Amino acid sequence: MPRIIFHRIKCIGCNACVEAAPERWRVSTKDGRCNLIGSSEKKGIYTAKIHDMEVEQNQVAAKNCPAKIIQVHE
Ligand code: SF4
Repeated sequence: MPRIIFHRIKCIGCNACVEAAPERWRVSTKDGRCNLIGSSEKKGIYTAKIHDMEVEQNQVAAKNCPAKIIQVHE
C-alpha cells in the first residue's frame, strides 16, 4: 500500500499541498502547519497509508512543496 511520509516541523503552511490533494492535507488553525489527515506520528515524522488513486495528486503535493518535506512511496 502506498504511503506518505511528512516532516511536519519544517512546514511553512503555504497551502500548496492542500491545493494539490485537499482530501489529505489541511493547514492547522492552531500552529499554521499542515496536518496530514489519517497519519500517525513517531518522533516528529508523520506517516499515512493512502489508496493507489491518491498517489498522483500527492506526488504533485510533494513536488510543489517548497520545503520538500513530503515523500510519497508507492
Ligand atoms: S506544501 Fe509543504 S510547506 Fe506548504 S503547507 Fe504543505 S507541507 Fe507545508
